Amino acid sequence: MAFSPLLQNLVNALRCLPGVGPKSAQRMALHLLERDRTGAQTLSSALVEAVEKIGECSQCRTLSEDPVCEICASQSRDRTLLCVLESPVDMMAIEQTGGFNGVYYVLKGHLSPIDGVGPEALGIDQLLDRIDQGEVEELILATNPTVEGEATSHYIAEQLRDHPVRITRIAHGVPVGGELEFVDGGTLAHALAGRRSLR
Ligand SMILES: [Zn+2]
Repeated sequence: MAFSPLLQNLVNALRCLPGVGPKSAQRMALHLLERDRTGAQTLSSALVEAVEKIGECSQCRTLSEDPVCEICASQSRDRTLLCVLESPVDMMAIEQTGGFNGVYYVLKGHLSPIDGVGPEALGIDQLLDRIDQGEVEELILATNPTVEGEATSHYIAEQLRDHPVRITRIAHGVPVGGELEFVDGGTLAHALAGRRSLR
């Protein structure tokens, strides 16, 4: 039996979500229509509102309903410390640790020549301009420890080779409470490379 056009539309639309194939999309559509129409209404209005009202912060590029996000607007953050990240999710993860009081810059991706993602799409020029203004004393490169993330950090550091700003890369290493024998080789190699002096 074929779905009615409206139902098929809904199934097709749900497939824009990451990891949702035809079967999952069907299950979701039927669930919403058969069991949770109130939830479906809430979801639909939340989606419309979010898409209409959430833009990006003009300073750090994270998702924000205001022209400048709460963190960038805060007077209590240390503006000399700028942490560069790939995604707003990474920013939230660091915020949740409560251990960082600097400000952020969100690239929204990483360099990927194959997909046509160059420095422009990541706002790297805007980042370099900001560093040129002189307020930032330390730039913390916190892109992911993947090949693309490393290449992106390397590219940014390279652009700032002759700039006096201090550039650091976050250490990726052994998880807290982890035992060395259970840590994978790549992580362990990173942990060793990122070792710091104790005295
Ligand atoms: Zn911001």
